[in-house]
Amino acid sequence: MDIAGLYRDGRTARDHQVVVRLLGHGLDIVDDDGRLLAQWPRSQIRRVARTKEIRLTCSSYPMTSLLLPQPGPLAEWLPRKRTPKGLWIGLVAGAASMVALLAWGLPLASTAIAHLVPVEVERQLGQVLMAQIDEGQAICSNPYGVDSLNRLEQRLAAALPAQQRPIRVAVVNNPMVNAVALPGNTILLFSGLLDQAESADEIAGVLAHEMAHVAQRHPLAAAIRSIGVASLATMMTGDLSALAASLGGMALAGHYSRADESAADEMAVNILNNAGISPLGLAAFFERLDQRGDELPEFLSSHPELASRRHRIVSLAPAGPTSPALIWPEFKLLKNICVQPARKDSTR
Ligand SMILES: [Zn+2]
Repeated sequence: MDIAGLYRDGRTARDHQVVVRLLGHGLDIVDDDGRLLAQWPRSQIRRVARTKEIRLTCSSYPMTSLLLPQPGPLAEWLPRKRTPKGLWIGLVAGAASMVALLAWGLPLASTAIAHLVPVEVERQLGQVLMAQIDEGQAICSNPYGVDSLNRLEQRLAAALPAQQRPIRVAVVNNPMVNAVALPGNTILLFSGLLDQAESADEIAGVLAHEMAHVAQRHPLAAAIRSIGVASLATMMTGDLSALAASLGGMALAGHYSRADESAADEMAVNILNNAGISPLGLAAFFERLDQRGDELPEFLSSHPELASRRHRIVSLAPAGPTSPALIWPEFKLLKNICVQPARKDSTR
């Protein structure tokens, strides 16, 4: 049985005219020239929206979707309907968001709503965002530097429950002294920040601060504030590429409330303590940048003055034993993460 439909391949936001072949074990998606574009197993297919048309997704290929006209034979063929968990939570989030909006206004509501979005949905959004960054920005990949970064990340992440750990920490080749956390548990450190750091403890402090934002789902809350609660519906129906496109620039700007920043500083100190790393590195980094006095990066930009944040970190730092976040050679390798190692062949 063949049905004409529209297919979104997840690589572009364009719909492709396709023919969908319903088979016993699943469906084949074929283009006008008869080329097979995708095969979806029946058990992984689900219908995501109750509209006149039918939109289907396949759990193995979260970025793709199929739009088909009236149900007809398809209704018989589709696996027994079970309202997907994401959709239920979406509905609850939708209802809750209305109440929350009325009660608290958007800034507070966004934080509450962010916690209602399934982690899996946020992760998928993060993957789409990351793919865009991989295309547009230089992610630094010197293998020795990446090793050092991974070691530092793992040491800090061990202090967090698995669900709250970053999925990916990467360095972008960009001279700004900055670090950002994106929805979907991704943290980007800018190479300008590594250049400024005088010890691994300083980098560890900034990384712990961004990890705290991730753990508390601040990036998603900021995204919801920025692009509106309506975007939640898009998030739930699985059409993430369009959403990511509007998010990209915003996410990199990183807008957190004063309360978010204080909470992130406090949690960062805990993460560092649990990892046996001195939080004084973070305080020292704040102090140095304060003296520089030029344009301040995200993690310094919001209202609590640097001096008071610094004092708070120092006051929270316990007297227990600590060890350097990385040994000196590892720190040097991390600082050189954007330098490509020399190769024998001359092709870059
Ligand atoms: Zn921050």
